[in-house]
Amino acid sequence: MNESNIKKDEELSKELYRVARGKETEAPFTGEYWDNHEQGMYHCAICGSELFSSDAKFDSGTGWPSFTEPANLQNIILKDDASLGVRRIEVLCKKCGAHLGHVFDDGPRDKGGKRYCINSICLTLDKTKN
Ligand code: FE
Repeated sequence: MNESNIKKDEELSKELYRVARGKETEAPFTGEYWDNHEQGMYHCAICGSELFSSDAKFDSGTGWPSFTEPANLQNIILKDDASLGVRRIEVLCKKCGAHLGHVFDDGPRDKGGKRYCINSICLTLDKTKN
């Protein structure tokens, strides 16, 4: 694992730090990617790890980028989260520990039924691959 390309906390924008390190949620319909339909691979904005392909992206109507599955399950961590008094499953970047969002069971049924609801600010789209 190459840790040298993980951005340090002081290099992060205020909003990225707030969401990814503070486990907050960006306001819906505000991020760069919720309504983006370009092809590519979405990487972690902090460490560059490959997280989600545009092939798995769908319009959820929530205002956050939504995916049916991660590009590679090995690149994420799923963790039980009871923080709002509701049981949810938190999605984290395995390499850098960034809080990415949550995964829910109300995704498209014909594609496995999962909805990975991810904060736009935690992602960077690489349009050269997917
Ligand atoms: Fe990361």
